[in-house]
Amino acid sequence: MYDKIADVLVVGAGVSGIPAAIGAARAGATVVLIEDDPVIGGATTDYFVDMFCGGPLTGILQEAHTLLKTHYSPMSDAYFFLPDSFQRVFWYLLAQEPTLSVITGVRVMEILREGQRVVGVRVATGLGRTFTIHSQITIDATGCGDVALMAGCTAMYGCEARSDFDEPHAPLIPDHHVQECTWLYISQKIGNGPAFDMMKLEHVHLGVLVNGLGWFHEDPELAMRLNPGIYLHWGCRVACADTRDSAILTSAQTTALRMMERDHALLREAGYAIYLAPRLGVRESNRIVGEHIITENDLRSRDLPADTIAVGTYGIDLWGGDENFPVEDRQTPAYGIPYRALVPRDVDGLLLAGKIISGSHLGMSAYRVMPIAGSIGQAAGVAAALCVQRRKQPRDLDAQVVRAVLRNQNQQLEVMV
Ligand SMILES: Cc1cc2nc3c(=O)[nH]c(=O)nc-3n(C[C@H](O)[C@H](O)[C@H](O)COP(=O)(O)OP(=O)(O)OC[C@H]3O[C@@H](n4cnc5c(N)ncnc54)[C@H](O)[C@@H]3O)c2cc1C
Repeated sequence: MYDKIADVLVVGAGVSGIPAAIGAARAGATVVLIEDDPVIGGATTDYFVDMFCGGPLTGILQEAHTLLKTHYSPMSDAYFFLPDSFQRVFWYLLAQEPTLSVITGVRVMEILREGQRVVGVRVATGLGRTFTIHSQITIDATGCGDVALMAGCTAMYGCEARSDFDEPHAPLIPDHHVQECTWLYISQKIGNGPAFDMMKLEHVHLGVLVNGLGWFHEDPELAMRLNPGIYLHWGCRVACADTRDSAILTSAQTTALRMMERDHALLREAGYAIYLAPRLGVRESNRIVGEHIITENDLRSRDLPADTIAVGTYGIDLWGGDENFPVEDRQTPAYGIPYRALVPRDVDGLLLAGKIISGSHLGMSAYRVMPIAGSIGQAAGVAAALCVQRRKQPRDLDAQVVRAVLRNQNQQLEVMV
C-alpha cells in the first residue's frame, strides 16, 4: 500500500537533506524525502543548533534565512532563531514543490541494490510496518552515513595521521578522537525580575535569541543592561569515546546532564525556565570515502577546484583535541567543495550530502557548519536530478552542468571580495 517510486530519494530531513530535496525538485525530479524523526529540521530541531555560523548563506538556505527574518525573527538579523521557526520555514518551502513528498517517522532498514548500484531502500515505520521506496538516485543526508554504510561504502572515523593526507596540523599517530559533543538549551526569564548575571554560570558560551543581540559572553554588560530574557546556551562540552555507539552516547548524555546541574539550578532559582534540546549534539560521526577527500590542504589552497559546487568561509573549528593548534592557524581562506567529494567511491546510484561527505577530520571541522552543509545538500539534489535526466551515474556526470543549474538556482559558486 505504501510502496513508492521516485526519481530521487533523500534520506534525512536536516540542514542538508531539505535543500537537497528542494534542489532536486526544482531541477525537474520527482522526489521523496524521508526522515527518522517525527519532525523535520535535523540538528536545528534535535540539538537546538539555532545559529548560522560561517557562510555564505546562499541558494535555498538564503531563501530560508529571508523567511526567518521576515516572519519569525523580525527584531533581529535571524542568525539566531528559535528551533520551531526553522521547521516552519522549511515546511513552507517544501510545500511549494509539487513533485516532492515528505514522510517523517520512518527509518531505513535495508538498501535495495542491483549489483553495485543503489536502487532504493526498505524503511520501517514506528509501528514496525515496512515498505519500499525505489529511486534512480538516493542521497544520504543522514549526518551519520547510515545509508552509505548499509550500501557498502567505506567510512572514515576519528582523527587521521599526518602521513595519511600530509595535513600540517594532523597528529603523527591516528586516533579515535572526534569532536566533543555539546548539549544546547534555551533559558527564558519568566516575569519581569532583574536579569541574572550569566557570567556566574560554570559553562558560559551563549548567545541572545530573538532580538539579535548576538553573543552574550562577548558583551555581558550590554546584555545585562538590556535584559533580553532569552538565551541559547552551548550547555557543556563532553567527550564521547564513540559517537556511533548508542550505549556510549547514552553515557555521554548522563555525564552532560550532571555537568549542567549547577547551572540549571542557578537559572531556576533566578526565575528562568530551561528548555533542553531533545538530544545531546553530536558534531562528528562517520565520513564516507568519495572520489576526492577534502583535507586541510584543500581548505588552505586559495584555488577553488574546477568542480566547485559550494563555497565555504568557515575555518577549522575542532572542539577538543586542538590544544596544540594555534588559534591563528585555524583561519582559512574561502575554499571550494568539489563535486567529487559528494560521489561515494564504492557504489553507484548514491550521492552524499552534509557533514558526511568525503573529507578528513580536519577538513570536516570547517565545512560542517549549516550554511555550507545546506549548499552541499542543494548541489547533491541538483546533481541527482541531472543524473536521472541524463541517465548517468554520479561519477560520470559533468560537474559543469551541475554548476550551471546551481547558478540558476542562485547558489554562490565564487568567492565574493
Ligand atoms: C553541538 C553542535 C553545535 C553546532 N553549532 C553550529 C552553529 O552554531 N552554527 C552552524 O552553522 N552549525 C553548527 N553545527 C553544525 C551543524 O549543525 C551540522 O554540521 C549540520 O546540521 C549537518 O547537517 P546534516 O544535514 O549533515 O545533518 P543533520 O542536520 O544532523 O540532519 C540529519 C538528519 O538525518 C536523519 N537521519 C539519520 N539517520 C537516518 C535514517 N537512517 N533514516 C532516516 N533519517 C535519518 C536525522 O534524524 C536528521 O534529521 C553544530 C553542530 C553541533 C552538533
